[in-house]
Amino acid sequence: MEQVVIIGSGCAGLTAALYTARANLTPVVLTGLMPGGLLTTTSVVENFPGFPEGIDGFELMTRMQKQAERFGAKVRFGTVESVDLGRSPFTLTVDGEPLQTQTLIIASGASHRKLGLKSEDLLEKKGVTYCATCDGALPMFRHQPLVVVGGGDSACEEALYLTRFASVVHLVHRRDRLRASRIMAERTLANPKIKPIWNSVVTEILDLKKDKVTGVRLEHVQTRQQSVGGCAGVFVAIGHVPNTH
Ligand SMILES: Cc1cc2nc3c(=O)[nH]c(=O)nc-3n(C[C@H](O)[C@H](O)[C@H](O)COP(=O)(O)OP(=O)(O)OC[C@H]3O[C@@H](n4cnc5c(N)ncnc54)[C@H](O)[C@@H]3O)c2cc1C
Repeated sequence: MEQVVIIGSGCAGLTAALYTARANLTPVVLTGLMPGGLLTTTSVVENFPGFPEGIDGFELMTRMQKQAERFGAKVRFGTVESVDLGRSPFTLTVDGEPLQTQTLIIASGASHRKLGLKSEDLLEKKGVTYCATCDGALPMFRHQPLVVVGGGDSACEEALYLTRFASVVHLVHRRDRLRASRIMAERTLANPKIKPIWNSVVTEILDLKKDKVTGVRLEHVQTRQQSVGGCAGVFVAIGHVPNTH
């Protein structure tokens, strides 16, 4: 039986591993399908203290793992399928095998929240995306009208970033004002390339027949009036859901 099992090997999981390893608890870190977590997918991380020139995301995570291992953390490839927290010790099922532990740290990250449309799923990576920094500079989005869905800080950040490439960014929000922090909201609304579409939701992403994004069908939440707007990309920024399922 283990003393500590940590689900997830992103920066949260490996930080937990470093601290529990230094407390001589010999933690087991289960990597899941993405060893090193989301940061391994980015090139330069510019906001991690101690690296004035920035550091490659993959390298940063490799270093975090080595640091935790140096104090006794055991990093194992494995995905947790279920946990029984009903009695102590806890029992985990990892790739079909049971694993018992006295304590459990869940650091399994979060996934992008989806709109829940069939067309959204079918057109993902064909114009539908969840990350402006990852995809915004792609040729298919350059000098094209783009749609950002959402009204919080993330949506504002995505919209502002996309103004570098898009001809215009339509910010579709279901309320009549942004939920973002004041400074972000002011910056967003002051940008001449960002055009808010208030009180509206996306009900369909077009065009499945062409197998790429050509526009969105919108519905006004009060009048129920439908409209169609052309765009080359839809950036969904409506929050995250924890990977705890
Ligand atoms: C392209 C990109 C660039 C980014 N750039 C920056 C940046 O420059 N600066 C910054 O501060 N942030 C950046 N971020 C955000 C940053 O990556 C996240 O905030 C951070 O990775 C969250 O860490 P985490 O450990 O909570 O989760 P994650 O990194 O998501 O790690 C989750 C871990 O849990 C594991 N897991 C999930 N489910 C299971 C399971 N059932 N069993 C076992 N393991 C499981 C996964 O395999 C993974 O190892 C960026 C994100 C992306 C996508």
